[in-house]
Amino acid sequence: MIAEKVKNEAKKQGMLANVMRQFNHASDVIDLNPNIRKILEVTNNELVVHFPVKMDDGTVEVFTGYRVQHNNSLGPYKGGLRYHPTVDLDAARALAMWMTWKTALAGIPYGGAKGGIQLDPKKYSTSELERITRRFTYALGDNIGPELDIPAPDVNTNPQTMAWILDTYMSTKAPNERSTNLHVVTGKPIGAGGSEGRDRATGFGVYLTIKFWAENNNVELKGKKFIVQGFGNVGYWAAFFLEEEGAKLVGVQDAFGTIYNENGMDVQALNEYQLANNGTVQGFKEAQAVDPADFFALDCDICVPAALGNQITEDNADSIKAQVIAEGANGPTDVAAEQILLQKGVTIIPDILCNSGGVITSYFEWLQNRNGEIWPIEEVMEKLEKKLRISFNKVQKVAEERKVDARTAAFIIAIERLQQAYVDRGIFP
Ligand code: GLU
Repeated sequence: MIAEKVKNEAKKQGMLANVMRQFNHASDVIDLNPNIRKILEVTNNELVVHFPVKMDDGTVEVFTGYRVQHNNSLGPYKGGLRYHPTVDLDAARALAMWMTWKTALAGIPYGGAKGGIQLDPKKYSTSELERITRRFTYALGDNIGPELDIPAPDVNTNPQTMAWILDTYMSTKAPNERSTNLHVVTGKPIGAGGSEGRDRATGFGVYLTIKFWAENNNVELKGKKFIVQGFGNVGYWAAFFLEEEGAKLVGVQDAFGTIYNENGMDVQALNEYQLANNGTVQGFKEAQAVDPADFFALDCDICVPAALGNQITEDNADSIKAQVIAEGANGPTDVAAEQILLQKGVTIIPDILCNSGGVITSYFEWLQNRNGEIWPIEEVMEKLEKKLRISFNKVQKVAEERKVDARTAAFIIAIERLQQAYVDRGIFP
């Protein structure tokens, strides 16, 4: 248990060190102006809130919540809220930075932020989670807002969480302002102002980037084997679309277990199973249980890490069989593992490109709310595919021109966009 704790601690610290190394490496390649580097390597604002919540049994618990706003030179801060025991200031800093690069690469008018609450949501009832979310929103107060900082779902948060945030935020506003604040959060349920397609957008984007990679490399996805770490919103939808294309889901890992079937598993059946089984794939009859430590070494062509950060490390990188790693999660591959993988010739579709379908569709939701529009799902998906294809091609082009890996190329595009904003505007005295 203690060993596990120490390992988790190392993983958390690793995320910030990781994003900083990625940023510094790309900045070195383009010889980034040192003044701009100074600005981008720190976060603009960091909020830590402690707030009491009444539990179902009448006792009171005090929770700690975070919101880190890294940069807003390209538009309002944007990024998810996660509910997880590993959430702390450093984790929020790292994840906020990744959001800045992600939105800049996507070419959408946002900055980067991230936050959440340090807790294990499985320990709380739905009504407790509702009160925790509402108190957290109240504690954040006017530090979030539709033109200031716009939260969205992340690990262990979902459209319901966003609806509670919206309702609480709106309740604190004057009556004439309430209906104009719908875009204070994205990833809402459709009934509460959400966008068609936002539910599947991140996973669909992960699938699209794999499809673009396959097209560019003359690879046929039909019959290819893939494994997914994390069978939440991102992992499930990525698997759904890959299966539709004829690829076979052979391995899945979640926080409770790891399952494998070399002949493939039915994605829909597995999803129904986990919904009826406390949200875990463990015990699924169509597959056999395997040692969690062997997950990344499973025989496959495509690997989709779609859970937490720093999962692919020096310890397991060498054993990876996949040709391509599509980063559905934020920061799943640490810097040391990346070197090993690149040397082995494995392609990594970097997180800030691979999982950007979520925030791009959040932008579409925000635009619809802001403009009083409702777009049909076909329009949302078409626009998303167009934007992702542009980003994918740009990364490809910069990687070739600069002779760098895809992650460095993606960072270069993002950093150059931010650099231009500072160059054009100058620094306020
Ligand atoms: N949490 C998601 C991410 O990491 C979505 C963020 C958003 O839509 O604002 O990209």
